Amino acid sequence: MRNVYLDYSATTPVKEEVLKEMLPYFTEQFGNPSSLYDKGLEAKEAVICAREQVAQLIGAKPQEIFFTAGGTESDNWVVFGIADKLKEKGNHIITTKVEHHAMLHSCQFLEKHGYDVTYLDIDKDGLVSPDALEKAITDKTVLISIMMVNNEIGTVQPIKELAAIAKAHKILFHTDAVQALGNVPIDVKDLGVDLVSLSSHKIYGPKGSGALYIRKGVQLSNYLHGGAQEGRKRAGTENLTGIVGFGKAAELARIHFDEHVAHCSSLRNHLVERVLAEIPHAYVNGSMEHRHPGNANITFEYIEGEAILLLLNQAGISVSTGSACSSASLEPSHVLSALGVPVEMIHGTVRFTIGDFTTLEDVDYVVDTLKTVVSRLREISSVNMEKGW
Ligand SMILES: *Cc1c(COP(=O)(O)O)cnc(C)c1O
Repeated sequence: MRNVYLDYSATTPVKEEVLKEMLPYFTEQFGNPSSLYDKGLEAKEAVICAREQVAQLIGAKPQEIFFTAGGTESDNWVVFGIADKLKEKGNHIITTKVEHHAMLHSCQFLEKHGYDVTYLDIDKDGLVSPDALEKAITDKTVLISIMMVNNEIGTVQPIKELAAIAKAHKILFHTDAVQALGNVPIDVKDLGVDLVSLSSHKIYGPKGSGALYIRKGVQLSNYLHGGAQEGRKRAGTENLTGIVGFGKAAELARIHFDEHVAHCSSLRNHLVERVLAEIPHAYVNGSMEHRHPGNANITFEYIEGEAILLLLNQAGISVSTGSACSSASLEPSHVLSALGVPVEMIHGTVRFTIGDFTTLEDVDYVVDTLKTVVSRLREISSVNMEKGW
């Protein structure tokens, strides 16, 4: 049976070149980067090199990159680190209704501790309105956090414009760029952002590795306390292999950026065009113009996304409903709810995300299988409807 993975926004396989770069740091070059003898210095050199590779991908200086255990830690660090650092200034945070749970749940935690959080709406294309942001700002606002690319519908926000509003009000601006990294151009200087969350395993690097970009001069409290690693800002012995792998993945993402984007977007467009032409009552959610190159989020009316997922799985195809994090729960997606998709249609939604190893044959196999699966499920559901279920 054919095996087709179309869930690259959930995670990606580690590329061979990345793994090759990592391997020696498990065995011969296992030193602790804080140790003062050669083995430690070798490891420290590897961390320095990775820091440069990650910095280069987003136009940052190496000293502005702080390695973490992934996107989730970076998001948590920003929320709690800024809330603590600026507690004298205010207790108001502005974010959006469509953030990743790493951001939303951190904000909800703060709400239990006396913080006010404004969750901005999105329009029918999935975009945040700069006017709405401007209106939400108060003299107590200490942080504005708006994700660069949404993980469910792939919408790319106008970050430069939104960050300029924050800057005009002298408020720190953070963006969760985990889905953006390697998929849309990121230049932290040009965007005018203060803090950026990054993750390795969404760009063909290892899991449990990520970074926070902290613009020079921006102050936030530490989140992990202990040793003096990462410029005394993030304690804990460095995840050496994870950092080396992230660095290599970042370098590859930078070198192959145009190729990657062209490959993913052409296959994604092919998938969307075929689905819309060949499967009735199917709709794409979110802007097609401002979109992650590999994302297709599609609603199939009258059937359950979970049923589609399970039948596709039987045919060797991996896709998801909603985000990986919420797919274990039966809660309707908060992103599609914010987009105004009716609940019954949310339940008929599937996310397909394409990546570097996807081929045209893969996409055609998925669409062909999908046609059979959707019509089979609709037959069952119409039989059920006739029976009055
Ligand atoms: C995957 C993801 C995260 C979490 O990153 P991890 O490295 O898995 O902790 C955060 N934000 C977005 C938008 C994501 O897609």
